[in-house]
Amino acid sequence: MTTITAVSSDVVRSMLFAYRARMRDLKKDRRLVYGLLFKNVGMRAGASLAHNHSQLIATPVVPAIVQQEIDGARRFLEYRGRCIYCDILRQERSDGKRLVLETREFAAVSAYASRFPFETWILPTRHISHFEDHERRRARRRSPMCCFRS
Ligand SMILES: [Zn+2]
Repeated sequence: MTTITAVSSDVVRSMLFAYRARMRDLKKDRRLVYGLLFKNVGMRAGASLAHNHSQLIATPVVPAIVQQEIDGARRFLEYRGRCIYCDILRQERSDGKRLVLETREFAAVSAYASRFPFETWILPTRHISHFEDHERRRARRRSPMCCFRS
């Protein structure tokens, strides 16, 4: 089985841009309100195909668990006046225990109280809310997270 770690940074970068383009296209469909891009590796993680693949789903409803997270982030913003994800990143930088890697654009963090083993969050280092809104020019100029292997 080929994993994402076996392909070049350029291939990973191309994949990310393809994901972004596909998400932008799906976003045009007014029936769809939620998109999720994910990659499972191995049968125990839920992967049903042996070859390297990712999945992108878009649905007409926001899953309950995601809506709860959005609602919680909104309550945090109302209470603290700050973005919870920016606060999480600030805390993880300060603590350093769960910070896996940081580039100029993204940081990888082992999730606190993760739902499953090796759950890792990739957070933007600047305050943006949508992956598909990330600018290609910035990504190219500032080496996205996918390029740390090169
Ligand atoms: Zn933020």
